[in-house]
Amino acid sequence: MNAFSKIVNQETFNKQDLISMLNTVGDEQALLYQKSRAVKDYYIGNTVHLRGLIEYSNVCIKDCLYCGIRKSNKNTQRYTLSDEDVFQCALYALENNYGSIAIQAGERTDQLYISKITSLLKEIKKLSNGKLGITLSLGEQTLDTYKEWFDAGAHRYLLRIETSNRELYSKIHPNNRLHNFDKRIEALQNIRKVGFQLGTGVMIGLPHQTIENLADDLLFLKAMDVDMVGMGPYIEHQDTPLHEMNHLLKSRQERLDLTIKMIATLRILMKDINIVGATALQAIDKMGREKAIRYGANILMPNITPGNFRKKYKLYEDKPCTDENSVDCNNCIDARMSLIGSRIGYNEWGDSRHFTNSKFNP
Ligand code: SAH
Ligand code: SF4
Repeated sequence: MNAFSKIVNQETFNKQDLISMLNTVGDEQALLYQKSRAVKDYYIGNTVHLRGLIEYSNVCIKDCLYCGIRKSNKNTQRYTLSDEDVFQCALYALENNYGSIAIQAGERTDQLYISKITSLLKEIKKLSNGKLGITLSLGEQTLDTYKEWFDAGAHRYLLRIETSNRELYSKIHPNNRLHNFDKRIEALQNIRKVGFQLGTGVMIGLPHQTIENLADDLLFLKAMDVDMVGMGPYIEHQDTPLHEMNHLLKSRQERLDLTIKMIATLRILMKDINIVGATALQAIDKMGREKAIRYGANILMPNITPGNFRKKYKLYEDKPCTDENSVDCNNCIDARMSLIGSRIGYNEWGDSRHFTNSKFNP
């Protein structure tokens, strides 16, 4: 057995091991992918689960330096879906046997908004007879808010740490109370505390980010013992302050390759968690999400937001499916998955096996 083959076949991995896995090229990269596929086949199988993504609103109180819908971007026309639109999306997911939906939006923490989400959740539970699983991705909230939304029927929550490196975090966010690394960590702990399946993740290929940082990100995900991970390439957006750092970026293709290696390495490191094939991968390569599924991911989030709003939820440039309607997306996902030998787990929640088996599951 050569030295690299020995590394990927270990049971535990230190930072140096992870760095070598992320630096692989050629035969070693093929070996990494062979291993991550074998781990996925054994622990997860070839079923991909869907979360129909509802981009509920692009109104946001925050100013993350990388994000196209940040508060200070005056070129974004703001919208919030009507209740009726949200119910239509939920019904669409139900009728198409998606099993789950995910509600995502810019961050808002006012009481009116909190109560609105609570009532939407209750209504969706009712209209689907409890059949639709619900993931939320609505940013940092208080423990009480998380609890209220959990009690209203959501059971998974995604909040990316974006980077686990405190210094890098402060380079990609304004330095004020609203954008605080410690508060982010506390929010993740609170999400877990109220009983959600906990999801987090990072952006890959950020300016100033090193391979060492990414290896630390993987160790962070492992130490947090998360149930789900959504991570994708950083993609520039011209109306954001981070755009000024474009000269520091790796090529988009390199960011894509690195993301696939992160996903493969994570699958080997955390064998039974749910990993999302992020939509941002598709912005770089038409087959980006398929590659992610092939080498480790098992969750897809097809966009089911009404077509006329999608262009306005523009986190980054070249966001895919912005001028399609949901039906096109639905058909294309089915065909794309069978092409790579995967099947879609229709009508199933597809909860994280890691959570089902874990000490946090009451
Ligand atoms: N407001 C919520 C959810 C919406 S943003 C939140 O911030 O958690 C969802 C994710 O989009 C963010 O976590 C971030 O990782 C990603 N994102 C934002 N801008 C991006 C960009 N320019 N490139 C790639 N991903 C981006
Ligand atoms: Fe708002 Fe989320 Fe974008 Fe930050 S990443 S500006 S919180 S939508």
